[in-house]
Amino acid sequence: MRIGSIIDISLVDVPGIPVSVIFTGGCNFNCPYCQNADLISLDSGTEVSISEIIERVSGHFVDGYCITGGEPTLQKELPELLKDLRNSSDGHINLNTQGSVPDVLRQCVPYLDSVWFDIKTSPSKYLTISRTKDNPWKRVENSIKYLLKSSVSFWPRTTYVGKLMTPNDILSIADKLASLGYSGKYTVQNYIASSGVRENEKEFLSSPDRSEIDEIADLIPPQLSLNLEWR
Ligand code: SF4
Repeated sequence: MRIGSIIDISLVDVPGIPVSVIFTGGCNFNCPYCQNADLISLDSGTEVSISEIIERVSGHFVDGYCITGGEPTLQKELPELLKDLRNSSDGHINLNTQGSVPDVLRQCVPYLDSVWFDIKTSPSKYLTISRTKDNPWKRVENSIKYLLKSSVSFWPRTTYVGKLMTPNDILSIADKLASLGYSGKYTVQNYIASSGVRENEKEFLSSPDRSEIDEIADLIPPQLSLNLEWR
C-alpha cells in the first residue's frame, strides 16, 4: 500500500494515548486548506508491504496506532493492515478518515477502537470544499450512520477555515450529527497556514477568530458538546 511516512511516537494524535502514526499516500478530495497537500496525489508516497509496515511500527514505546493520510480508506489493503496490527498488539487502533469510501471503512470497523471523522463542511457545501467531480456527501453520511451503529468510538471533527466557512456551517454540521443520532463531543479546530498547505491556496484562506464560534455556541444542539481546539 502507498505510505507517505511513519512517525514512531506521537502524543497528540489520540487523546491520552502515545501512538505510532502511519501516513498513507493519496486522497480523493482536494481540500484547499489541506495540511498534508504533498499526500494528495494518488501516486504520492511509496509502495510498502504490510509486513514491512508492521515491522517498522513494532518495538516502540507506544500504546497504539493512528492511521491517517491522505485518505487511508483509498488503500484496499487497509483492512488487512489493521487486522495484522490487531493481531500483533493489543494497543488502541485509531483511523482518521473523511468517510467517502464507506465500503472499505466497513471492512475496517472490526479492527478499530476509534475514528477521527473529518466532517469537511455543511452537507450543502461538500462539493465546494472537497473539489471532487461528484458530490461525496451521501457516501460520507452513510459512513457516519454505519459508525454510529458500530461499537467504534466516533470522534467528529471539523477544521474551521476563515474565508471558506461560516459559523452557520458549524451549526449545520452539528444539527446533522444530532439528527443522525450522535451525542457527545464535537471538535472544531482552527485552520493554520502551516508549511504543509500549498502556497497558491493560502491567500484565499485565513486563520479564523475563535469569537466567531463562541457566538454560536449556545445554538449547538444540547446533545453535542462543542470542543474548541484553537492552536
Ligand atoms: S480530505 Fe484530508 S488529506 Fe484529503 S485533501 Fe482534504 S484535508 Fe487533505
